[in-house]
Amino acid sequence: MSTGILLLAGGSVDGREFASIRNTLGKTQEQLARLLGLSPKAVQSAEQEWRNISIQTERHLLFLLFLKVSSVENLQPCWLTRNCPSETRDRCPAWELNAGQLCWFVNGTICRGREQDSWKKKMKICRQCEVFPLKKYLSSQ
Ligand code: SF4
Repeated sequence: MSTGILLLAGGSVDGREFASIRNTLGKTQEQLARLLGLSPKAVQSAEQEWRNISIQTERHLLFLLFLKVSSVENLQPCWLTRNCPSETRDRCPAWELNAGQLCWFVNGTICRGREQDSWKKKMKICRQCEVFPLKKYLSSQ
């Protein structure tokens, strides 16, 4: 029987981080499962690392964490913080979608001078970036 976690290429969050984020959200495994649209068994499997955490589940989890610990109103757009030149900014989907406070959530952003076309590679960079508002909730990988 499916646990609800898709076995696609895994994201960047490991089981320990998954459990730590759940604790920050103040949720039981059952409650988090409901929020993520997964089965409780899927959440348990993610925390025990019995199954890969899909990119979709990871993005959903990080978005919930962002809603809990941060606020768009208190953040300035990434292109200001990072002083992006207009030729980079104009090609970046974060600019196009006016998502400068949520750039980490948008795949394909132009970070470190080139398009970040994979979520896993992008997250590696985001985890080190001064713009990423969830840095202190994740270990640096
Ligand atoms: S590296 Fe990530 S957090 Fe930093 S500006 Fe790019 S998308 Fe945003």
